[in-house]
Amino acid sequence: MGRLVRKFGATAVLGWLVWFAVQTPVQARVADRVTVTHRRSASRQARASHRTRSRHGSFGSRRHRRHAGTHAKRVCAHTRYGCVGHKPTYYDQFVRVIRHPLRGYDRACIKRLRRARVKFRILTRVKGVRTPIEVLSKRIGGVNYIKHWSNKRRFILDCHTVEVLDVAGRAIRRAGVASIYYSSTWRYTYLGGTHRFSQHAFGRAMDIPAIDGAFGYATTIHHYERGIVGCGAKNHTSKGAAWRKFCCALKLNHYFNRILTPDTNRDHHDHLHIEGPSRSVHLAERPRRLRAVEGRRRHSVRGRAHGRGMHRRPAHGRGMHRRPAHRTRSSR
Ligand SMILES: [Zn+2]
Repeated sequence: MGRLVRKFGATAVLGWLVWFAVQTPVQARVADRVTVTHRRSASRQARASHRTRSRHGSFGSRRHRRHAGTHAKRVCAHTRYGCVGHKPTYYDQFVRVIRHPLRGYDRACIKRLRRARVKFRILTRVKGVRTPIEVLSKRIGGVNYIKHWSNKRRFILDCHTVEVLDVAGRAIRRAGVASIYYSSTWRYTYLGGTHRFSQHAFGRAMDIPAIDGAFGYATTIHHYERGIVGCGAKNHTSKGAAWRKFCCALKLNHYFNRILTPDTNRDHHDHLHIEGPSRSVHLAERPRRLRAVEGRRRHSVRGRAHGRGMHRRPAHGRGMHRRPAHRTRSSR
């Protein structure tokens, strides 16, 4: 302050302080009015909030800064879209990894996923998601999950969604799809143009801009054939058919309740959106492979208990009868 007085003179500094004290609340009130009256118009609203922010962002009393903060939140929070000139609120920075599930988490789901040998980390402070996990496996249910080039965020989903993806893996592979390129998974945002939350906010949705398989690399934007229904029989190209088969694999088996394609609306012209993993689909409590191994072990123990050696078992009628059954089970 002393330096300012020496540089500009006492009158100038005093005048500036008075102007600052008077002017700032007036501006705040004006900005508020602008924000309130034009709340319906998205662009004006964004501009207003931007103005509020720029006025109180760099200077102004603490009270006003807080005031501006709440306004900015009311206008533009939680959404990255339709908010021109406004920095999005990223919740990724709050995400933390934890070792054990917290109260309220779906522990059974985590257990089943671990048994299915899916690699993941349990997370906390993931807004909106009941049992947030970050998937580390490259393959889920035998299908490769590859991060799309446009995706800069972590692979965070609700545990149950990953579980359903794992179960659906078989059907997806049967549809001829080897890899899925995913873009958006968890993001805490509204549906475009509304104040309702997107399923992405709950970790129950995923965006798929591309798939690959024997048909090659198929993107939604270039290879999805619009206006053609069915499961690939009516398509003109193999890639278009692959997209339809993929949709059918997820939808007709009731793995996901809703699939939005380029046919649905313009927002989905460049990706497929799958959401709402079926509540009734769960992984087996004990995977088949493990069950088979345990069964074999139990069998051998019982064999010994009856005084039979391991080498004698194949000769036994019951043992011979049983063996092929084990083999088919474990080969799955
Ligand atoms: Zn989506």
